Amino acid sequence: MEKKLHTLPPLPYAYDALEPYIDAETMKIHHDKHHAAYVNNLNAALESFASAQDKKNPTSLFEKSAEDLIRNLNDVPEEIRTMVRNNAGGHVNHSMFWEIMVPQGDKQPKGKLLEEIQKSFGSFEEFQNKFNDVALKRFGSGWVWLVKDKEGRLDIISTQNQDNPMAEGYLPIMGNDVWEHAYYLKYKNMRADYLKNWWNVVNWQEVNRRLNIKN
Ligand code: MN
Repeated sequence: MEKKLHTLPPLPYAYDALEPYIDAETMKIHHDKHHAAYVNNLNAALESFASAQDKKNPTSLFEKSAEDLIRNLNDVPEEIRTMVRNNAGGHVNHSMFWEIMVPQGDKQPKGKLLEEIQKSFGSFEEFQNKFNDVALKRFGSGWVWLVKDKEGRLDIISTQNQDNPMAEGYLPIMGNDVWEHAYYLKYKNMRADYLKNWWNVVNWQEVNRRLNIKN
């Protein structure tokens, strides 16, 4: 079987499309350099392991999607597990991140998503406040997520580095990147301002679609 490398998905809009909330230079570096590096490092880790030892079936690790790799990290050889955790995580997280943003996003969700948010958090405003609060308290680098558990319940959680909620059995519905590389050029140390402005570019249609994915 042919080895299939992981690839960087194109940004679904122009670098400056999310201005003034996220600046073009941040988007360009974030996608073209940071996300690209996660993809390249993931491929390099898989290649190094395949060429070093798995002579009989060197392609087996390449048959798995990045999502499968992080859902079952214990199946990944120990030698490259940390590399895969960080870089497959970075790849999956950012692939979702570009899709759940959009220029001129609706200001709030509609339909089933809005109902579920109101049921779980009281109101859309309370949901936003809790999401921002959890994001603000993430010490160092990481993400804040709206997730769905196996029973279909919604919750807000935070992960460190590039860890993805899938590794803990959750389905990530939406997430915001609170690594400094996501906002520092424009917002400097003002993470709270970035978090507040970010709601202007949320793609609620895509978030609604993700809500309906089976966990
Ligand atoms: Mn990032």
